[in-house]
Amino acid sequence: MPEINRHRLSGPMISGKSREACGIFGIDSPREEAVQFTYYGLHAVQHRGQESAGIAVSDGTSINVEKRMGLVDGLFSDSAINTLTAKLAIGHTRYSTTGGSSLQNAQPFLLETRYGPVALAHNGNLVNADALREKLLTNGMGLTSSSDSEVMVLMLAGAPGDTWLDRLAHAMQDWVGAYSLVVLTVDGVFAARDPWGLRPLTVGLLPEGGHAVCSETSALDIIGCKAVREVHPGEVVALHDAALIVRQAIAPSRPLALCTFEHIYFSRPDSVWDDQVVYQVRRRIGRELALEGDVEADLVVPVPDSSIPAALGYAERSGIPFQMALVKDSYVGRTFIRPEQDMRERSVYMKFNPIRSVLDGKRVVLVDDSIVRGTTARRLVNTLRDAGADEVHMRITCPPITHPCFMGVDMPTRQELVASSNSVSEISDMLGTDSLHFLSLEGMMRAIGSESGYCNACFTGKYPFEVAEVLVKERFG
Ligand code: AMP
Repeated sequence: MPEINRHRLSGPMISGKSREACGIFGIDSPREEAVQFTYYGLHAVQHRGQESAGIAVSDGTSINVEKRMGLVDGLFSDSAINTLTAKLAIGHTRYSTTGGSSLQNAQPFLLETRYGPVALAHNGNLVNADALREKLLTNGMGLTSSSDSEVMVLMLAGAPGDTWLDRLAHAMQDWVGAYSLVVLTVDGVFAARDPWGLRPLTVGLLPEGGHAVCSETSALDIIGCKAVREVHPGEVVALHDAALIVRQAIAPSRPLALCTFEHIYFSRPDSVWDDQVVYQVRRRIGRELALEGDVEADLVVPVPDSSIPAALGYAERSGIPFQMALVKDSYVGRTFIRPEQDMRERSVYMKFNPIRSVLDGKRVVLVDDSIVRGTTARRLVNTLRDAGADEVHMRITCPPITHPCFMGVDMPTRQELVASSNSVSEISDMLGTDSLHFLSLEGMMRAIGSESGYCNACFTGKYPFEVAEVLVKERFG
């Protein structure tokens, strides 16, 4: 049974507490297969959000939206939408671990305006959403959700300008934070990206003409689309049949603030982020890690799947054999997604099963992408020891995460981040490792191939813009 869109609103709930790292997709398909392409595109970015999925489709005169809690497959199998023939569509997969987990926050958001209907799907998080929401409420507008994306679509509807491109360019002036967007009107699809470039967004050319735009290039590959250009920071792009209309709405920030965590964890390894294949970046990260965190051992073991390329890189540089000694059950879902701590701990055991005959009596280098609360690492170290490992040396592909992210990567409050109040040796004791090494910021950036232009706020506390006091309080406890 699809969840019914029934909800209750209360003052505190309408404050911008939802934080999302989502997948978005938009298409202008000359063959009127927009819905079918959107299904494949969203499927390819399912890893960016499993909480809800939604699609908005234009038939040239009206817009139809379908949203469901759960996975993309459920959305398409559970409605008649996949039988629609349409040229224009946008879609969204939503990820949120906090209170805002309900259908009312699912996207795309659809609004009737004096210029006709408009739907919007958003990846990222505005840091000034509370102030913008307050302004809308003061002006007598109503809101149905706690999502900053609804604030964005309302502002877009009210923005001055003769065209949607003008209105989008205008509304962007007031938005501070991370936003990669797709917007659907009855006769157009638009894409826009914040001037810091925080979250990815790439345009591709369909073989039969027409364009698609997606959070990750791998989704474009999968639908047979050739990635032609990023939506550059601060740009609005209109997909217009075979042509693209591009406007630089806001000057790009100098320096840019691309999210490092896309390389470390979020993006698929077969995607390109900042002109780099993520798989190769992760391999180089593994090599840096082997240089910095050198240790005598018998095996290098990745925590699948995100750490496999880095563990390969570690093995290549160190000469220590790579072994897939942990087998992942991909159907358990991300441990991070489980809201309560005891459920989260249980699901780590469900998720990874060790191969005893590979591990027994061995000194193991265990490579994981990151440590957030430390739950996964603690359980994995136990798992390896129970399976007979003699020594467990943990190697992490990024520096300690000491600060929450306000820009769309879901991170808990500062107190919950194990590295915010514990030294590396304290964390090592808590996890029960024989040694623990986090890749240095310099090593990570060297592997990425850049010295600046990235947001490393979760490692350094240096945010690319001022973060409102209220947000800091909320997240720092
Ligand atoms: P934790 O168990 O809280 O330390 O979380 C660390 C694990 O969660 C790592 O194995 C990562 O692969 C994964 N992870 C890291 N950051 C995130 C994130 N923002 N969302 C979901 N999972 C994450």
